[in-house]
Formats: sequence, structure tokens, C-alpha cells
Amino acid sequence: MFQSTQTESRKLLGRLREALAEDSAGQTRLDKITALTADSMRTEVCSIYLFRDADTLELCGTEGLNPDAVHQTRMRMGEGLVGRVAKTGQPINSANAPQERGFRFMPETGEEIYSSFLGVPIQRLGERLGVLVVQGKEARKFSDDETYALEVVAMVLAEMTELGAFVGEGAALSARHQNSVMFRGTVGQEGTADGYVYLHEPRVVVTNPIADDPASESERLTTAVDKLRVSVDEMMGHTITGDKDSRQVLETYRMFANSRSWMRRMQEDIALGLSAEAAVEKEQSSARARLRSVPDPYLRERLHDLDDLSNRLLRILTGQGGETGAEMPDRPILVARNIGPGELLEYGRKLRGIVLEQGSVGSHAAIVARALAIPLVIHAERITAEALNGDRILVDGDQGIAHLRPEDSVATAFRDKIAMQASAQERYASIRDEPATAQCGTTISLMMNAGLMADLPSLENSGAEGVGLFRTELQFLIRSHIPRRGELAALYSRVIDAAKGRPVVFRTLDIGSDKVLSYMKPQDDEPNPALGWRAIRVGLDKPGVMRMQLQALIRAANGRPLSVMFPFVAQFDEYRAGHQHVMEALEREKKLGHALPSDVKIGAMLETPSLAFAPRQFFEMADFISIGGNDLKQFFFAADRENERVRRRYDTLNVSFLSMIEHIVDRCNETSTPVSFCGEDAGRPIEAMCFAAMGLRTLSMRPASIGPVKHLLRRVNLSDAKTVIETARASGEQSVRGHVIEWLRQLN
Ligand code: PEP
Ligand code: MG
Repeated sequence: MFQSTQTESRKLLGRLREALAEDSAGQTRLDKITALTADSMRTEVCSIYLFRDADTLELCGTEGLNPDAVHQTRMRMGEGLVGRVAKTGQPINSANAPQERGFRFMPETGEEIYSSFLGVPIQRLGERLGVLVVQGKEARKFSDDETYALEVVAMVLAEMTELGAFVGEGAALSARHQNSVMFRGTVGQEGTADGYVYLHEPRVVVTNPIADDPASESERLTTAVDKLRVSVDEMMGHTITGDKDSRQVLETYRMFANSRSWMRRMQEDIALGLSAEAAVEKEQSSARARLRSVPDPYLRERLHDLDDLSNRLLRILTGQGGETGAEMPDRPILVARNIGPGELLEYGRKLRGIVLEQGSVGSHAAIVARALAIPLVIHAERITAEALNGDRILVDGDQGIAHLRPEDSVATAFRDKIAMQASAQERYASIRDEPATAQCGTTISLMMNAGLMADLPSLENSGAEGVGLFRTELQFLIRSHIPRRGELAALYSRVIDAAKGRPVVFRTLDIGSDKVLSYMKPQDDEPNPALGWRAIRVGLDKPGVMRMQLQALIRAANGRPLSVMFPFVAQFDEYRAGHQHVMEALEREKKLGHALPSDVKIGAMLETPSLAFAPRQFFEMADFISIGGNDLKQFFFAADRENERVRRRYDTLNVSFLSMIEHIVDRCNETSTPVSFCGEDAGRPIEAMCFAAMGLRTLSMRPASIGPVKHLLRRVNLSDAKTVIETARASGEQSVRGHVIEWLRQLN
């Protein structure tokens, strides 16, 4: 790069810093920046366009164009050359802009007399903030050095926008991270929460985008990158051999961390006057923009790796560690891109609400949120870019909406809603000890799903008749090693104690798919983990763990009744093998002199369509069957429970799925095998009522659903409901939901 460009660029940044340090209003600052930049770039025009909302750019400051157009001229993303720069995140450099495809003439600006055009994106950490443009009368293309220099100015602008330099009196635009924003996502778990943002991965704040001394910045960068390389190598050392996924990610990290071109570009940014932090961010942003347009999904995946690595480097440079020391606020609402079930369990009940950018309703993180009764909104796009630690946030899990920094009127309406929900809770509490007997006289047994010690008090509070599904894997997920037998026996014993004679159905370890234990992973990468080595398949292949768990359960029962069920049984043989393990464990325990359970029931979860068509002997042999609707539905419709796009296409009340349920109930009735439903849908009142109408007599759900489900069941006649379902089925409708809702509306 030319020495003169470097000197010129540093001089410009120095002047920008002085201008920004002055105690002036936001607009004055923007105007100074445009004047200084035009002067330094030797162009007649310099303009700054910033986003007003996600889709609209506004001319916020200009040197050279008509000043009256400031805050008047607007364009949409993708519109004109400026809109195109914003959309693609790539610079546009043209000697003759009016001749360019897509040029949009804006007469109010008086720009028609300018021929040359150079526009670069203003972006931070991949977030689009606006566009910086210079224009000149002379028809010439700008050099690469000039483009580079303008990108450096854009970087400083991005940092200053983030820090709120253009707001306040005479504000050029409303403050970032200050105005209220509503995020419309998807319902993950119903309920409402009023609290304060706690970022799972806090943003790094850079306060010094411009630096005086390139030599010392360059040294800081080199030292930080060295540290980064060491930490990546250490991480590689810690990963267990064979853990291919993590290794692959780390290999990519290592590749980036050792990339000479990455380092060279950052050093060039520093030579132009940026601080080491700003240089890292600048390269991160432009790599993001480049990768975003790459069609190869593998490469796009690498975006996350690069982001992660840049964030690590920023944390090293700014000293803002992984845990940035941000204290958890009162009433914390967790805001994150995504989170796994294990991490969520670590936070536990401290959280009042969760808002995720990604995530899915069927994931186990969502199930954990549900088990913990924490309202969850998923698919709240861009929230991690907007939210700051400590911001007030209202989570409306019923609508899938989050209000960040809400207006007073929204907060008041929200408080009313919470009050209304509290009164509904009171209504449910009043029927807590009543049976779920429908108007036709049929009584449905309502059980609860559990998996944590924290669930036990719900046995009393919810009015559950027992635990229909105890997910034992949650205890494995919250540990970094296999729990010991004695530890498990003590824990299961406490669960049975807390149930005070009510039944508890323990499901054996259900891992695999999205429930990954760091200490028990498949040796090879699985192309489709949901269809892979999971649940009873792992148990039968690794009988040591299964044996240990069965022993712990028998010892916990200590002379009391014991119910065990095997997850994900796809064929009769698997059930038979599991059954055999229980028999052998009982035999062994007897020899060791332990008290045997007074009664042992061995069940199977029906989670794959295949089991519904198993031989009659299976239904005769199984002591009970529990329909795992979450998995069953995913395999029935061939729609990933974690993929929101396909999951939502298929309604649980789809006539085909209801026929499947009916078929299972019929087969169980033929052999008098008790059958229940323990998937998430059992906790949704309308679904629960339809299942009851189809003949299910036991439903197991999260404790908070028992009240609402019971409330509805007690008000309806199940034979009438069945008639409505039959009519809907006969009508050729795809789902019976419409008919059922209409019927309920008329009833009430
Ligand atoms: C199910 O699949 O419905 C079920 C209850 O099991 P899990 O959600 O834990 O896979
Ligand atoms: Mg399942």
C-alpha cells in the first residue's frame, strides 16, 4: 500500500477523532465527518446514509449534495447504488455512476452532475448500519487504496454509531440500543415474563476505533493473535480424539488463526489508522459480507466459526473475557443466538424468560425450558445485535413476541396481561384436587413429566396423579462425567419419596440426537443423529451404563413398586432385550441381598411408526406403552422436530396422525395394555381433549399444563368431541382443528 495513502488516512482519522471528541450534537458530528472525508478523498461529495429501520436508508449527512435533502431522501434496501451496497455488503466503484445498472436518480439531492461514485458499507460485526459514499465530477474509477481508506472511515463510523456518537440533541438518528424494539418470533413456551436482558454471549464493546501509534497497535495485535493460537491449540489438546465435530471446528479455527492474509489485512487496517480492535472487527464484517453471498452451505457454516474466532480475539484485545463479568440482573431474561439443553440446565430456574434468535419448539432446550416453566420465544431475529445487558425486556411467550426497552404504554398493557394470567392460575388452583372428569363421566388421568429435582414440588402443586415420564437423561446432561450408581440411586429414591405412593415412570437414558453427552458420543460423525445411535440403541450397545442405571433404580425402589420404560423402541426385539436386562438386574440384586421392588412394570415408548405395527406378542408382553408424540410425529410426517420450517407444516390434529393414535389405542385395547401419551402435545388443552376423545385415558405433561388441560376436559363431553372429530374427518379436511375450535366456541 502506498505510503502516502497510509499517511493521508491516518491524518484523516486523527482529524475525525478530534471532531468526534468535541462536545457537539450528533448532526454536527456527522456533518464534520462528511466534510473532512470529502476533503481528504479529494472528492466534491461525501454522504452518509444510515438505516432508519431494517429496510430503509436515509441520507443523514452530506458534504456537496443539497443540504435540504438530508433526512428527506430515503431509499429501500437494494434500491439504487446505495441500496445495493447496503444489501450486498460490498463496495461499488464506478467511473460513471448514472450509466450503472440500477442507478436511481434522486433530483432533490442534485447529484446528477457527479460522475464517479464509490460506496462502501457501514457495518459492525456483520450488522448493516448504513452506507458511506463519495462522488466526484471527474469520470474516474477510485483506486483500491482509496476504497480501502474509505472502508476504514466506514469502520470508525460503525463504531461511533454503536457508541451513540450521533444521537442526543440535534440527533442525526435515534439512538441505537435506546429505542424500543418489538421482536416477533415463534412461541417456544407459553407464559409471560417481565425482566432484564442477560446476554448468553455478551457483546464486546470497542471504545477506541482510532489509534495514534500504528507500531504499538500492530504489536498488540500480534501478541493477541499469538495468544489466540495458543488457546486454539490448547482446545485441540482437550478435545477427545474421535470427537470429530469439535475437531473439525477447531481445525477451521486454527486455519483462520494462522491465515497470513487475515493477519496482513488487519495489519494494513492498522497502518491506515485503526486500532487493533477496530481492525479485527473490520475484517470480520467484510468476511461476513463476502461469505453471506456464497451459495455453499459448508462455507456459510464457517461464518460462525470465523465470528467466534474474531470474538475471541476481540475479548483478548479488550480484556473483556468470556464471562465479561456482567452480573446477572434481577429477573434475568436470557437472550442468545441459540442454546443447548445442557447449558440451559446450568442456568436453571434463575431465568425468568428466554429469547433466542434460532432454536426450535421440538428441541430439548425447549423441552427443558418447558420443564422449568420458563417462557420461551424463538426466532427473534437480530435480537442479540439489539439487546444490551440490563435492558428491560418483556417476553410474551403466548404470542411469541419480545418487547425490548418497551414504551410505558406497552409495559402497562403487559402488566394487565400478567394480572389476568394470575387470575387464571387461581381458577386452575381451585380445581387442583378435583378429578379430570369430563361431562360424559369419563375420567382422564393427568400425570406430569419431570427430570430435575426442582420438578418435585410440582407433584404437590400441580395436582398431578404421578410422574408419567421421568427423563433420566437430564441428570446426565448437567454433569461432565457419568454419574455414579450410588448418586443416581439416592436421587431416584428422593423422587419416589416425593411421589408419596403415586406412580413414577422412569425412562432409561435417552441420549443421542440433540441430547449429546460430551463423555458419551458416537465414535463417528452421524449424518442424521435423529435417526442415529440414540436411546435404547445406545443402551443395548453399551450395556454397562444400562445395567448401572437399572441397578440404581432397583436400589432406589428398595421394596417399593418400580416402573421402567425404554425410549425409542422401534421393534419387538429391542423391547425384549431391554426386558431381559431388567430381569437380569433383578436377579443380580437379589443375589447381592438387596430388597427387590414389590412390583416391577416394564414399558416401551412408542416413538416410531414401526412399533405401532409390531406383532401382537409385543403388546401382550409390554406392561404399558407410552406414546412419545414428539418423536412419533417427526417420524410419521418425516419432518424434523427441530426444524421449524417443516415442523409447523404438520398439525398434530391432522387426520392421518389422529388415525395413527387411534390405531395405537385400538391395538393396546385388544391386549388390554395400558397406554398413555407423554409428548408435549398432551399439555395443549385442545390436543389433549382430542387425544382423550380418541380413547387415551392417561396423559402426561409439564406440570403447568395440568390446570388448563383439566379445566377444558371438565367442561366437555368427550363423545360429542368424538362426533365432531368424525364429522371433520369425513369432510375431507386435512386437520380437525377448525371444526373442533368452532365447536368449542359454540359451547362457550
Ligand atoms: C417424545 O418423543 O415425545 C418424548 C416424550 O421424548 P423426548 O421429547 O424426550 O424425546
Ligand atoms: Mg422421544
